Amino acid sequence: MAMQNIGRPTQPRAADLENHASLTGGRGLLQDEPLIFELGGWDKTGVDLEPAEHDASDLGDLVRAEPIGLPGLSEPETLRHYVRLSQKNHAIDLALYPLGSCTMKHNPRLNEKAARLAGFADLHPLQPVSTAQGALALMDRLAHWLKTLTGMPAVALTPKAGAHGELCGLLAIKAAHDDAGQGHRRTVLTPTSAHGTNPATAAFVGYQVAEIAQTADGRIDLADLAAKLGPEVAAIMVTNPNTCGLFERDIVEIARLTHAAGAYFYADGANFNAVVGRVKPGDLGVDAMHINLHKTFSTPHGGGGPGAGPVVLSEALAPFAPVPWLVSGPQGFGLIEEPAGEAAQAFGRMCAFQGQMGMFVRAYAYMRSHGADGLRQVAEDAVLNANYVKARLQTAMTPAFPDGPCMHEALFDDSWLEGTGVTTLDLAKALIDEGFHPMTMYFPLVVHGAMLIEPTETEPKRELDRFCEAMLALAKAAKGNDRERLKGAPYLAPMRRLDETLAARKPRLTWRPGTTGVAPAPLAAE
Ligand SMILES: *Cc1c(COP(=O)(O)O)cnc(C)c1O
Repeated sequence: MAMQNIGRPTQPRAADLENHASLTGGRGLLQDEPLIFELGGWDKTGVDLEPAEHDASDLGDLVRAEPIGLPGLSEPETLRHYVRLSQKNHAIDLALYPLGSCTMKHNPRLNEKAARLAGFADLHPLQPVSTAQGALALMDRLAHWLKTLTGMPAVALTPKAGAHGELCGLLAIKAAHDDAGQGHRRTVLTPTSAHGTNPATAAFVGYQVAEIAQTADGRIDLADLAAKLGPEVAAIMVTNPNTCGLFERDIVEIARLTHAAGAYFYADGANFNAVVGRVKPGDLGVDAMHINLHKTFSTPHGGGGPGAGPVVLSEALAPFAPVPWLVSGPQGFGLIEEPAGEAAQAFGRMCAFQGQMGMFVRAYAYMRSHGADGLRQVAEDAVLNANYVKARLQTAMTPAFPDGPCMHEALFDDSWLEGTGVTTLDLAKALIDEGFHPMTMYFPLVVHGAMLIEPTETEPKRELDRFCEAMLALAKAAKGNDRERLKGAPYLAPMRRLDETLAARKPRLTWRPGTTGVAPAPLAAE
């Protein structure tokens, strides 16, 4: 009996968790860590240089009068600081990262190796194109794969994120309407379940946004769409599968109605992971779609790493694609940098140079290492994994749309928590103690207390089971007598419940001498 409990107490109570700190305030390998500025050492440096032979400066009156104010640490101190910080954070390399809509999948190290090859990593964006032919060839091949996988004739590679791609797509649509004397079209339609970036992008471009209603089974309401389409509508923005993790069965009819009304069909391709290799958006009548390379094609994201959101375009929109255009001729590859000649109708440009080269290399390496058949299996396994999670968890939790399978994400509502006093937020916080990143909470907005879980195809069954068992144990605690445990979680994180609204509204992003770092916030009193 005692033996059993040595390694892992099976049922620690909230009080046990509260007291789970060492005599010096750490938790085993999780050391308490001040800000690097608080580590002080202003007079120290990590390097040991001989005094300069002539210390007369050439800088004249530009010589610094005050110390620069950067902390001086030795190399081991610096390394330890950052390694300790890194251990306070969840990472895809630690455990399943179920953040729905974000497609947090494993990033193969092969991609990282390729992206670090000097011929890619050390390029300068202004060096002569004749010296960057290999990089341009890779961009050309990536473009070929993106066009082939989507069944679309053109692609603009430069947008630097999904939202940036949406902006690119809508600007191309606006340019096409203006060109056709349809500049009076001022409205963009988005479904009620749309990702926030869709209406935000439309508003940023200057469109009015109108919502398309959703049916009881989580799809676009065709009758409502037909009623709202009209001569003032410029485009619809639709995700398929949608943010409820469901395939829009009427997608072809949605495209037909949209085109019949003279509007364009913008597809939010952030969920392409669910259908890549199985469905070509071009066959569905899509006119423009961004592809989050950092989701579907596995480039690191979530910690603020760069993204890439190339936009595929239909025949009608292709002439309006932003510069630079990548072209090939007898001299090899070249770039058209100005809206002139072939690119005369380009609406402008999305960024200073040619886009996120490192992301291009990673995504292309991912495509080539999977091959066409492997990419199809990506979609199949992503859907299989999500349905496995849905099937296991629906024994305790309520799926938002119980009928039929889901696509790549399993969506639950909070009706099963009714009467327990426990909320979606409490469950998410408790998941941190179990060693997982929380699922996406309260999104999509159309589902009450939404919990959106996306395992992705890179999770083995063993890890899916570990996650499901954690969720089921939390569900049992929520419904049983252990409500207090969930209300107080997380217990094992370096910080407990923070005032997230205050942190978002009034972030303290700078440190000044004499101030202390972040003080642990007291537990929110219920
Ligand atoms: C992630 C996502 C976006 C935005 O992509 P970013 O790269 O984060 O700008 C848009 N729509 C959906 C459905 C998404 O999941």
